[in-house]
Amino acid sequence: MTSSPLQDVVSRARRIVFFGGAGVSTASGIPDFRSGDGLYASEFEGLTPEMILSQSFFYLDPETFFRFYRRHMLHPEARPNAAHEKLYELEKADKLRGIVTQNIDGLHKVAGNRRVYEVHGSVHENYCMDCNAFFPMEKVLNSEGIPRCDRCGGVVKPWVVLYGEAPDKYTCMGACREISNADTLIVAGTSLSVEPAASFLGYFHGRTLAVVNAEPTPADARASLVVRGDVAEVMGALKL
Ligand code: NAD
Ligand code: ZN
Repeated sequence: MTSSPLQDVVSRARRIVFFGGAGVSTASGIPDFRSGDGLYASEFEGLTPEMILSQSFFYLDPETFFRFYRRHMLHPEARPNAAHEKLYELEKADKLRGIVTQNIDGLHKVAGNRRVYEVHGSVHENYCMDCNAFFPMEKVLNSEGIPRCDRCGGVVKPWVVLYGEAPDKYTCMGACREISNADTLIVAGTSLSVEPAASFLGYFHGRTLAVVNAEPTPADARASLVVRGDVAEVMGALKL
């Protein structure tokens, strides 16, 4: 059997970092934003997802924010797919040094990976805006209207980075450090259109940049390898 170019890259690599986006989780049943059937193709009560998922909208109309958020951003039934599972195996085999993800679904952690940089936060972490008490996703999922803190009655806000908000500095620093130490960077399932995450790729100075995506991306021009395909299929087919 002939081996694929990505298989050759992975077999040779010693310090892989995986940089992913919403396309990594579409095979788990979570729609992305910018594909034809992604969330941006739809409107919600006359508003676009980009408008609703912004910091200013959160404060302006939290009721509508949470209605949208519960319906479209929470997927309690979603399970890790073949890409998440392969990345867990690669980390266990000490080939994968870290995952930098723009996803907020938490599926890399569910799959078992430990070195995960969730640069846009996670739906599994929610905090009271007044007393900072922590709440799991179920708190938001199972409440109505604006979720309130059991301790003090404050508004419970998901730890997800909204448009207009800055991502966590330490998460970003960790992500950039991993990327700068990698010999191989696999960029997958992302349109690379959200900053500052997309510019993290500039920290990579290793040997091989591989892009796995259904459509062209801005990183294709500088990649040593571009695989046009489904992330779950392509990653799932890799042998350790
Ligand atoms: P995006 O929607 O902008 O781009 C997704 C890219 O992945 C597209 O280029 C698309 O062609 C490709 N793609 C989709 N499914 C694929 C598949 N199965 N195989 C290969 N390629 C596939 O998403 P993005 O670049 O991650 O950026 C948008 C923002 O979306 C992020 O900030 C993220 O927080 C948020 N988001 C997250 C989730 C999630 O957590 N699962 C879901 C939707 C959006
Ligand atoms: Zn509180």
